[in-house]
Amino acid sequence: LMHLTRKLIEIRTMLLSIDQSDALKLPSIVVIGSQSSGKSSVLEAIVGHEFLPKGNNMVTRRPIELTLIHTPSQNGREPEEYGEFPTLGLGKITDFSQIQKTLTDLNLAVPSTEAVSNDPIDLRIYSSRVPDLTLIDLPGYIQIPSLDQPETLKEKIASLCDRYIREPNIILAVCAADVDLANSPALRASRRVDPLGLRTIGVITKMDLVPAEQGAVILSGNRYPLHLGYVGVVCKPSGKNGKKDSTALVAQRAETDYFGSNREIFGTSSSLMVGTDTLRKRLMDVLESSMASSLHGITNAVQLELEEAQYQFKVQYNDRRITAESYVAETVDVLKARFKEFTTQFRKPQIRAKLKAMLDDKVMDVLEQLYWSDKRTPELTNLAADPKVKAEEVEPYWRYKLEAASSLLTKSGVGRDSTLLVADGLRALIDTIASGEPFTYHPRTAERLIQFSHMILRDRIGVTSDQVENCIKPYKYEIEVDDREWEVGRTEAAQLFEKEVGMCEEKLKEIRKKVGGSRRLNALIGHVKTLEQTEREKRAKLLKGPDENPEAIIEEPTANDYRFPPGHVLDARHAMLYSDRLGILRLRLASLKSKRCRAGPNNDLLCPEAFLSVVANKLAYTSAMFINIELLDHFFYQFPREIDSRLLYDLDRTEIVEFARENPAIRRHLDLQERKDKLEEVMKQLNSLATLRPEVVQPTQRR
Ligand code: GDP
Repeated sequence: LMHLTRKLIEIRTMLLSIDQSDALKLPSIVVIGSQSSGKSSVLEAIVGHEFLPKGNNMVTRRPIELTLIHTPSQNGREPEEYGEFPTLGLGKITDFSQIQKTLTDLNLAVPSTEAVSNDPIDLRIYSSRVPDLTLIDLPGYIQIPSLDQPETLKEKIASLCDRYIREPNIILAVCAADVDLANSPALRASRRVDPLGLRTIGVITKMDLVPAEQGAVILSGNRYPLHLGYVGVVCKPSGKNGKKDSTALVAQRAETDYFGSNREIFGTSSSLMVGTDTLRKRLMDVLESSMASSLHGITNAVQLELEEAQYQFKVQYNDRRITAESYVAETVDVLKARFKEFTTQFRKPQIRAKLKAMLDDKVMDVLEQLYWSDKRTPELTNLAADPKVKAEEVEPYWRYKLEAASSLLTKSGVGRDSTLLVADGLRALIDTIASGEPFTYHPRTAERLIQFSHMILRDRIGVTSDQVENCIKPYKYEIEVDDREWEVGRTEAAQLFEKEVGMCEEKLKEIRKKVGGSRRLNALIGHVKTLEQTEREKRAKLLKGPDENPEAIIEEPTANDYRFPPGHVLDARHAMLYSDRLGILRLRLASLKSKRCRAGPNNDLLCPEAFLSVVANKLAYTSAMFINIELLDHFFYQFPREIDSRLLYDLDRTEIVEFARENPAIRRHLDLQERKDKLEEVMKQLNSLATLRPEVVQPTQRR
């Protein structure tokens, strides 16, 4: 039947990992006792090793879930004894003093403000000398609090113990023989939850400290009867061998000696239970029959939980199974697909159009700087309208101007600006992907995605902009324009001007609406003009000499005319600028549409806008070509490869799970799936027990 307990202990561990609720708990033995009752000594005697924290001030601060696993000797050879902390991942620990040290550290890690922690330490011990048992070691009850212990410690320990001594657990109440049982906190706590003593075993320690007859009376249990009885033990080395050699083996010898020398009282005929061996057997029997009788109930409970989990899994996920790995693979697929979809925005024609728009802005800046601010520019329109004027006879003034304009454009850093424009586009693209689902749940991954895409870009920007700059170099010296190019440039320039005209008109309309109509705006403009006039006069007077009081000049009443609030005056100034701009734009637009400009590229001096638009087109075309080769091709090749090698595939198993669980929907899915799987596994194990041993299903028939 050893096998049964072992199986049930495994099932108990699985159940604990599924759920902490009482419904799914198989019994364990809970060890309680007051401090110094000999609790640790008893546990160590059962295990056959010293492994619990010692020391004057050492109070157990966390429960220890101690699982003992019997490893049978093979071919007469003893298997290695070792301990394991499954949740700490320290591996096999064969040195028991190391286990002791780890437990001490874990204890000390509980902050003193917290006093005790409810979080149990999971410890498994494998040995041929231990039976299959689960024991829970709890902090000892405090009877006389010492000064340096927090006030609340006593209550906290008591309530912690209360949580554990509930059904279906078995209570191992440790009491010292030399202390009146009436004062034993362990027995008192047990009696509160188990008044008939049906699931409490008494352990009487330090039997050597009272006369044998008195010990026998305690063990007979007449005063405080317990259904499962009392076991008497001696767990302390006799002392004769010196303090150093305090191993469990020596302790056991002391016990054998003691009960041997009092054979007439504790001998086999007395029916009293004494000795650590007896205690071990008793615990095994009690645990086994307790587990067996819980079996039926737990099977039902697991069945119910399983049905619920299966139902939920069907309803919520249509039985679709996922793994953390499949989620990672799916995420990578989604990422690549989205990337591919977005890259269609970066085909050559799109790039060319974007660059042209940027260059058009530059063209407008150049025109503003060189032509619109030039008082002579209206002359160009007249020249263009005059059929007698020959293209070759236009003044050199306009030739120099056009050369200057063209050179401003070609030397404006097109290589750098166009490369950065496209790189910015790519950056924005990656940012959009990284800030969308499912990366909203994976901020660290999104960060990495952004980091390595920036890195690829950084690598290429320098090379690309140099290459582009190099390839547009010829345009800095000579630009040849054919008829087709000219017509395209002219049309685009005209469109650009129409757009600009539209924008200026829109602005004027807004201002008109804001100040309250066109009459009001005209009045404001009139006011501004007078202001400007007086301003000019003032300046002229000041220049003439300081014969007047300067303060009088500053306090000009018209400047603060209450009918014209400063905000509106500012609007009127803007309106004047816009209408000046409109004037020149309309004039130039008329030229661009004129017969002369339509006639072809030899009219470039009279139609600088068309010429510059052609230049912009050539620059855009060449830039787009080399940006495509040097930047985009590299990026589109490199990015998916970086995803493979850097983003997720270098994660280890725990990191993959961690990643998947960052997504709450996936976490819920995995949790439910895992719960269902575990319950199925437990159910399978429980069923196999029932078919193997039909008798355990009806424990009442045993004995
Ligand atoms: P705990 O505080 O309940 O864990 O008690 P310990 O196991 O640390 O024991 C408290 C003290 O009682 C220690 O000094 C032990 O050496 C001593 N002790 C434990 N068991 C026995 C025993 O059977 N006989 C004697 N004489 N002393 C014991």
